[in-house]
Amino acid sequence: MNTTIKAYGAKDSKADLKPLDIERRACGDDDVKIDITYCGVCHSDIHTVRNDWKNSRYPVVPGHEIIGRVIETGKNVTKFKEGDLVGVGCMVDSCQECSACKEDLEQFCEEGMVGTYNGKDKHLGGHTFGGYSTSVVVNKEFVLNIPENIDEKGAAPLLCAGITTWSPLCKWNVKEGDKVGVIGLGGLGHMGVKFANALGAHVVMITTSPDKAKDAKALGAHEVLISKNEDDMKKHSNSFDFILNTIPVGHEMDPYIGLLKRDATMVLVGAVEPLKPFHGGGLILGRKRIAGSLIGGIKETQEMLDFCGEHNIVSDIEVIDMKDINNAYERIIDSDVKYRFVIDMASLKN
Ligand SMILES: [Zn+2]
Ligand SMILES: [Zn+2]
Repeated sequence: MNTTIKAYGAKDSKADLKPLDIERRACGDDDVKIDITYCGVCHSDIHTVRNDWKNSRYPVVPGHEIIGRVIETGKNVTKFKEGDLVGVGCMVDSCQECSACKEDLEQFCEEGMVGTYNGKDKHLGGHTFGGYSTSVVVNKEFVLNIPENIDEKGAAPLLCAGITTWSPLCKWNVKEGDKVGVIGLGGLGHMGVKFANALGAHVVMITTSPDKAKDAKALGAHEVLISKNEDDMKKHSNSFDFILNTIPVGHEMDPYIGLLKRDATMVLVGAVEPLKPFHGGGLILGRKRIAGSLIGGIKETQEMLDFCGEHNIVSDIEVIDMKDINNAYERIIDSDVKYRFVIDMASLKN
C-alpha cells in the first residue's frame, strides 16, 4: 500500500516552497524504506524549483542529499537492516545493464539515470519526489552506508557536493605532493579543499575575494591565490598538476588554463552553461586539458563515504528548519552560507 507523507515543494516556477502531501510506494522486495533525518540543500534544488533548466515537473519536491535510518527492508535486501544509518544521493535508479551501469557509472546510464527528484518514477508513474520529506523508498542498489562515527548532519552534503568533488580528484589520480588548485569557495569548493588536503596534495584555494583566505586555510588550503591579482597569477603560471573548477556560472577560462602545467587537466563541475570563449593556444602550447565531471557512481560514492569515515570528514553546515527553506534559497543565491544548509527533518515531522 502506498502511504501519504508530509513534504515541502513548489507548485510552479514562481511559487515559494510550501507544505504538501505526497505518495510513497510500499516497500518492495528490492527496496529500503528510510525515515529521513536530515537533507542537504543543493543549488540544483533551486534551479529545479525555478525551472532554470526548462525541464521541471511540478510539484517539485527537491532534496538529493538524504540521510536517514532504515525502517523497513524488502525480502531481497541483505546489505541493510532496520536502524542502519544510510544515505541517498542524486540517483534512485538506472537500467543496471548498459555499458555505463556495468562500469559502475550509473550517473551516465545510457537509458538515463532516475533522479532522486524530477526523475521519471518507474513505480508510481509521474515523477520522483526528493528528500524534503519525512521518508523515502529506494531500490537497495542506490542506498549508501553512512559511517556511524561521522556527524550525520554534516554527512548529508557528501551525497552530492562531496561526491561531485571527490570523483574528479580520484579519476585524475590526485596524490600526495601534487599541487592542486580549487577554484571557488562554496558548497563544492570547500569539500574539494578538504578532500585534496586529506589526499596529501598541496592545496591552493583560488578565489576572487581576499576575505575568504582565512576560511580557506582553516578548511585545509596551504595557500590562497587571489585570481584578480595578476602578479600572483603570473607567479603560479604553468605550475598546477590539477585544478578543480567549481565556479557555478559562465566565466573567463584563459587565466586558469595558464595556471596548468604541461599535460595537466582542469575539471569543471559547476558551470552547466555557456563558458566565455577561450584561446586554443592556451591548450595547445602545453598539451593541456579541460574536462567535465558529473557526481559519481554508487560504488565510488560508497568509497568516498568510507574515506570520510576513516578521515572524519564532513561538510561545514548550517542546520535549518523546513519552514525556513525559502529564506535559505535567497541566502544561497547571495553566497551567504558556510557552506551548506541542511534541513533538520524533525521540523517537518512535528
Ligand atoms: Zn546537488
Ligand atoms: Zn544504464
